[in-house]
Amino acid sequence: MNVQTRAKILPDAQTVTQVKHWTDTLFSFRVARPQSLRFRSGEFVMIGLLKDDGKPLLRAYSIASSSWDDELEFYSIKVPDGPLTSRLQKIEPGDEIILRPKPVGTLVLDALLPGKRLWMIATGTGVAPFASLLRDPETWESYDHVILAHTCRARDELAYGAELTAALPHDPLIGELVGDKLRYYPTTTRESSEIEGRISDHIRDGRVFRALDLPAWDAAEDRVMVCGNLALNKDIMALCADHGLEEGANSEPKHFVVEKAFID
Ligand SMILES: Cc1cc2nc3c(=O)[nH]c(=O)nc-3n(C[C@H](O)[C@H](O)[C@H](O)COP(=O)(O)OP(=O)(O)OC[C@H]3O[C@@H](n4cnc5c(N)ncnc54)[C@H](O)[C@@H]3O)c2cc1C
Repeated sequence: MNVQTRAKILPDAQTVTQVKHWTDTLFSFRVARPQSLRFRSGEFVMIGLLKDDGKPLLRAYSIASSSWDDELEFYSIKVPDGPLTSRLQKIEPGDEIILRPKPVGTLVLDALLPGKRLWMIATGTGVAPFASLLRDPETWESYDHVILAHTCRARDELAYGAELTAALPHDPLIGELVGDKLRYYPTTTRESSEIEGRISDHIRDGRVFRALDLPAWDAAEDRVMVCGNLALNKDIMALCADHGLEEGANSEPKHFVVEKAFID
């Protein structure tokens, strides 16, 4: 089925090359990369489809693939009545989507001061920008340990991050750099699993540090990136402040950076 035939007349149309449905509410897809598109791992772009009236319907999406990949990967929610994702979830290889090639964002290595450990904390599709950063050799060259803490409601919603982290040490391009630097900490909030509860609670009471055998956050050594729902972002920002970490930006790198995984 071609859901976007009219986009062919748009200069920003890109062809879908792969689609994978992870659950009833989550899917990922890849599109051809515009030759001129340069981005930093962790940034987002505007993508979308044409509405019936011929106008583009665009939403912010983190790029999940690395900056050296020939294609762009996105990891998406399916909101049943969502203006974009109720239609986007039906795309198939060969369809076209709109992609505005103007990447921006704060979840970039440049917005952090040098450190020893990089903590990536995500809920749901907030894992997408971290997928890009985890696939980037610079991330592994810059830190002694890289920790991905991913919280979802149910176990099957963790599959994208679980598959990605399991593959990294065997990746022909960056596997050697990854070595034993990666720590993965998946938790669930509405279904029982090996590690249950909100990641903020595990940081507050120190469980995550004990489980991973890592020291509690310290502004001299730890850097934190957060991409989750509003509640998570607020909780982690408060915890960062409690540990003496200050928020950084592209213009002024510091100890932590935050981005909304979606607008509540
Ligand atoms: C900086 C930024 C980056 C983003 N990156 C991604 C991404 O990589 N993948 C992605 O799926 N979405 C991402 N989003 C959200 C995305 O822009 C859209 O909101 C989403 O695609 C749903 O679009 P929609 O038109 O179907 O529904 P919308 O009208 O946009 O949203 C309807 C409601 O659905 C809920 N919702 C929307 N997105 C999500 C989500 N991702 N997870 C949980 N609940 C959600 C919210 O309650 C929202 O009010 C990002 C948003 C921002 C601000």
